Amino acid sequence: MTPSQFENELTIHEHTQAGTLDEFHRAYEAAVDDIRSDFGATHPLRIDGDEIETEETFTVTNPGDTDQVLGEFAAGDETHVDEAVAAASDAYDEWKETPWDERAALFRDAADIIQDRKLEITALMAYENAKTRNEAIAEVDEAIDFLRYYSSELERTEGYSADTREPTPGQRCVSDLQPYGVFGVVSPFNFPFAILVGMTTGALITGNTAVVKPASTTPLTAHAFFDVLAEAGIPDGVANLVTGGGRAVGQPMIEHEDVAGFAFTGSREVGLEIQRTFDELDKRGPVIAELGGKNPVIVSDSADLSKAVSGVKFGAFSFSGQKCSATSRVYVHEDVADEFTERLVAETNDLSVGKPENRETVVSPLIDDSAIERYDDICDTAAADGTVLTGGSRVDRDDRDDLPAGRYVEPTVVTDIPHDHALATDEHFLPFVTIHPVSSLEEGITKANDSEYGLCAGLFSEDEDEINTWFDRIESGMCYVNREQSATTGALVDAQPFGGWKYSGTTGKFAGGPWYLQQFMRQQSRTVVGDVGQL
Ligand code: NAP
Ligand code: MG
Repeated sequence: MTPSQFENELTIHEHTQAGTLDEFHRAYEAAVDDIRSDFGATHPLRIDGDEIETEETFTVTNPGDTDQVLGEFAAGDETHVDEAVAAASDAYDEWKETPWDERAALFRDAADIIQDRKLEITALMAYENAKTRNEAIAEVDEAIDFLRYYSSELERTEGYSADTREPTPGQRCVSDLQPYGVFGVVSPFNFPFAILVGMTTGALITGNTAVVKPASTTPLTAHAFFDVLAEAGIPDGVANLVTGGGRAVGQPMIEHEDVAGFAFTGSREVGLEIQRTFDELDKRGPVIAELGGKNPVIVSDSADLSKAVSGVKFGAFSFSGQKCSATSRVYVHEDVADEFTERLVAETNDLSVGKPENRETVVSPLIDDSAIERYDDICDTAAADGTVLTGGSRVDRDDRDDLPAGRYVEPTVVTDIPHDHALATDEHFLPFVTIHPVSSLEEGITKANDSEYGLCAGLFSEDEDEINTWFDRIESGMCYVNREQSATTGALVDAQPFGGWKYSGTTGKFAGGPWYLQQFMRQQSRTVVGDVGQL
């Protein structure tokens, strides 16, 4: 199986196979240089196909070089949300009636347009959320896969209509899925393209219209997708983009009486608040929310330690741990704990912390000031309550004259922390991992499951019985065994749908999987008695 099953050319994997990896790197570096000249412009809201300027704006800077301004963005408020919801409501009837194969074709066209702009969008992420090239191109690939997969799902199910035949003579029945109306879509900074594209496409391809609010740190990539949708011919009002703050824009979207359903990816706190608000306002539509994680890895005494060290290192520290799927707690068998920990610390010390556009960088700068403050806090707590084996500090720029002013921090490995300590139970979203020796697989599984989250989990074991036991007992949406490229992160549309159990999500149905799109629709059972009327 190739990393992309959707005829998506130019994946890193295909470059590697074709021996053209250097070509990719040169093209990426040229794209990073090219887009620099576009920075600094002012970007409006996009409502009903129009560009709307606002009095207030906000500035976005590069996390890797905070002196570099990427642009000024319109700061929407409740009145803009009202306008956007009104436009989406007006566009709904016609969009809903658009034949499903035309909708699928439009999103296939969008995938092709993104394919043509792949390097440009990949390069944008180096500046906007400081994602390294390998991770950014994988993200753009994932967005393309979402578009093609959801289109193919609509085609496979013929627009989600099932002929339920003639239960009694003269009585004809059809069961189908119908959209809800206007969806709110709110997305996070860490996958600003793939997740925004996936959720927005889920809402729109099923016949809903949408108002979309990206994370305030990553509005540029959202504009890139709206450019693509416009070029693909999305009708005015079907997709509307309102940039601005969570409270100023997100909250009024949730509360708006004409917003029927919500798709959200982000923190548990905000996701559950959306669900509570929907309940309080007695809204009947769905809240499809993908939330946080505190992802455990078990390293058994039968494990291949090279794989385990590599998997934990990349799972915990790539993109600085700013992934819902990042590896955050490791339960390692006491017989191999010393060797595993020593090797993990040594390999962590060799990881390159730096500018995301540098080819060797693994540990990216952090997204914003609140992230760096959280990093300082948990490192202080770790030093007081446990043992910091490596890391624990911001990168000192006096030692690194290659670094501009950015939020560079050291990947951090900590031990001697009780399993129920806040450092080992709360999501931090930072390059920070805790190591916990255990005396058996049983103890590892019990502790891994003793969490309010259930997003991703990893196991390193060379024992078939252990692997089967772990699969049967682990409480996690996504489960990986012996994955050395990353113990817990990474998903593949169709093959490895992405989502969580417990407080890691609200629906238990995963993005990029066969039960995702149905969530954006409600069923209607249609019966006609006699010959008159179409079903
Ligand atoms: P976040 O702080 O929850 O923000 C997510 C989005 O919600 C942003 O657009 C944010 O806007 C908006 N928001 C904030 N407060 C709001 C409010 N009161 N009402 C409505 N919207 C509001 O999350 P983040 O820091 O961007 O991302 C990190 C979190 O996302 C982590 O918890 C991570 O685990 C989770 N995540 C989960 C998945 C998954 O698939 N399970 C994937 C990726 C990320 P502003 O940017 O303007 O504040
Ligand atoms: Mg946030």
